[in-house]
Amino acid sequence: MKDRADIPWYKQLHWQIFLGLIAALIYGLTVRQVVGVAEAEAYRVPFDFIGDLFIRLLKLIIIPLILTSVVTGIQSLKEPAELGRVGLITMTYYMLTTLVAVSLGLLVVNLLKPGKGLNLSISGEAELTPTPLRDVFLGIVPENIFGALASGQMLPTIFFAIVLGLAILMAGERVTLVRKLFVEANHLVFMVTDWVMATAPLGVAALFVGTLLNPELVDVGAFFEDMGVYMLSVLGGLGLHSVIVLPLLLIFVARVHPLRYAIALAPALLTAFSTASSSATYPLTRDCVTARAGVDEKAADFVLPLGATINMDGTALYEGVAAVFIANALGIDLSFTQQVIIVLTATLAAIGAAGVPSAGLVTMIIVLESVGLPGAGYALIVAVDRVLDMARTTVNVWGDSVGAAVVGRFVGDAGEDASADA
Ligand code: ASP
Repeated sequence: MKDRADIPWYKQLHWQIFLGLIAALIYGLTVRQVVGVAEAEAYRVPFDFIGDLFIRLLKLIIIPLILTSVVTGIQSLKEPAELGRVGLITMTYYMLTTLVAVSLGLLVVNLLKPGKGLNLSISGEAELTPTPLRDVFLGIVPENIFGALASGQMLPTIFFAIVLGLAILMAGERVTLVRKLFVEANHLVFMVTDWVMATAPLGVAALFVGTLLNPELVDVGAFFEDMGVYMLSVLGGLGLHSVIVLPLLLIFVARVHPLRYAIALAPALLTAFSTASSSATYPLTRDCVTARAGVDEKAADFVLPLGATINMDGTALYEGVAAVFIANALGIDLSFTQQVIIVLTATLAAIGAAGVPSAGLVTMIIVLESVGLPGAGYALIVAVDRVLDMARTTVNVWGDSVGAAVVGRFVGDAGEDASADA
């Protein structure tokens, strides 16, 4: 996850993943050509093993990652007194914009229908086990937190983490030890996540070999065509959200000129694009929002740090589109209820994603599992993830920054400079 400009390109994770994919592509296509896909089992099995191992590693870190990063994010708010009105506005903003983003993504992906007609099947059960909506909502509140943690239930874990984070915040000085414990645990989990992500070039390449040598993938050309439409769906959805939805909030709620605000934010947005990490971009985001755009500092400090971890419009939109694409590719029709479940879980999965590269890809499994899609469907989308990660991270940071201006309207003078003409 430490993709930095000052280390040689071949040591940077996204390049390594890219090279792994090229190698997988060459291997997969050669085996298809020479042996034929029907006879390729022996050439696929070892890679299936490595791919499964990689998915297990990802699942291994999800619960600790969500628990520690959500608790740490919430407890890092300054004072309990700040919760109240501003907290409510901030949370409402986070939730509403994220929900709108996923819905927009689903609209675009349902119109463009990438993956339809591919009819792949992926090892692992592809059967859907629809859950009634009522149970989805009830299921957010765990009956037994240890049960939820032990069985890897994501939504109850996020719910519990939010409650615990708030309690730690309210308890203040009395629980310094617990507060520190979570910060340090979060640090350790990030380290382990880094290790897991270091295996990504191999894991991802192995998954991709499995996809290419899937006996049901008859037409490789059609597969790549569908990938193009899939990327277009994600980028189209992201474009609509950042050029229409968020600017409308700027104009009508924050009373800020969108173009001027975007120009003020440009250094942060470009950094987000090149690092694919909202957390790494945070110092710049804060600087641009306060110093360049003139948003009230208190609002910025309330909205931005937490937003960098839990408000991810771009990630949520991406996860929704990707889930539908995977379902399409597997020849599975998602019902309306299942799409609603995707909206909810993508929103919550984005909350659980850390602001680091590829985090959305990790929490993607939450969305897939919520509608009974096989976790291995992941293999289909991983190939083009880096480009989409850069785009969605930019939208994540744009969403946080617009949030700061919106909240700033309620706590002080928002965007004095940028709003001059609005
Ligand atoms: N890279 C994104 C971010 O830092 C998270 C994601 O992978 O979607 O905001």
